[in-house]
Amino acid sequence: MRVVLKECAWAPLGDGLVLVRDPREALTLADPDGQVAALLEELSTGPATAAELSAALSARGVAVSAADVAAGLDGLDSLGLLERPDEQTLGDPDVDARQFSNLTFFASYARRDQSRAEFVRRVRASRVLVLGAGGVGSSVVQCLAGLGVGAMTIVDRDDVEPRNFARQFLYRHRDVGRSKVARAAEWVREYDPGIEVRPVERWIIGPGDLADLVEDVDLVVGGIDSEQDAHLWVNEAVLRAGVPWVGGGMQRTQFMYFSVDPGRSPCLLCDESDRPDPGEPTSAGVAQRLSRSLRFNNALIGPIAMQLGSLIAYEALRYLSGFEPPRAAGAQVVVDLRTGLVPVWQPFPRLADCPACALAVAEVRS
Ligand SMILES: [Zn+2]
Repeated sequence: MRVVLKECAWAPLGDGLVLVRDPREALTLADPDGQVAALLEELSTGPATAAELSAALSARGVAVSAADVAAGLDGLDSLGLLERPDEQTLGDPDVDARQFSNLTFFASYARRDQSRAEFVRRVRASRVLVLGAGGVGSSVVQCLAGLGVGAMTIVDRDDVEPRNFARQFLYRHRDVGRSKVARAAEWVREYDPGIEVRPVERWIIGPGDLADLVEDVDLVVGGIDSEQDAHLWVNEAVLRAGVPWVGGGMQRTQFMYFSVDPGRSPCLLCDESDRPDPGEPTSAGVAQRLSRSLRFNNALIGPIAMQLGSLIAYEALRYLSGFEPPRAAGAQVVVDLRTGLVPVWQPFPRLADCPACALAVAEVRS
């Protein structure tokens, strides 16, 4: 296999080398006889196989065996410094131009056995169900389109209204009165005709309304705010289908996102943090019950809607590409507007007898 050295810089220091690729993590490598520096110098001349590198080093008078070179390459790969030269792009100049930033992003996560092109191909092969084309959904749709997902189904029942404009940047003045999903689908097609997009105008009034939509998708994003427990309908539908879900919302002065990885993480019903304690009534318990009667929609302003949408889309990218594990599975990641938008992870355990999680287990077994 030919390998190529990612962009990095190094300099000798005493018996070692200081090497920097990501400016915030300088690596110090032992190199008492200069062999690592010689290997890096040969690698920096262009793509090569282990055998070619071994021959080039011998020609320079550096006495290393083929096994030494192979071990050196293993070490550099484990540090994330190598990748496959034939997989740095997708090979089509138009596609590569469009995916330029995505390919560059994935360079930090590429290895010899996991290429940037493969990450992009996984995202392109994926089908995503987007629930809602409002404050969060409209920014999620734009982020997912930029990431290059292959197919999106967008579900909503609302029409565009003037009050949407403070935060829903998919829509234009002339769209007022038009179906949101029709305009969202049009935006996606105009943005990237290669994305397959299906608008679905539908009220979701129970888990059954989601059953056909969650079939044949790789991920569900967004949510439903029509009723207090509507998010549990999505929870049930994704667990039955075995499809991961990334959702979120806002409450006055904080917003949060989470993900559910069916059969692997706790689900939303496992999260009892917002459920009143059944014991002796306390002021905290009463306040918790009262909080559940409040409606929190429409408090989003543009910057917050965009941020929540982008955090959901970034968690979605973890599921779709696998560049790193999901970070919000079985946790509420709460971002507090009153502390300068510092996120706090609030993981919750799996309920031993969770009836919703049991659906996922039953599906996996059957
Ligand atoms: Zn559960």
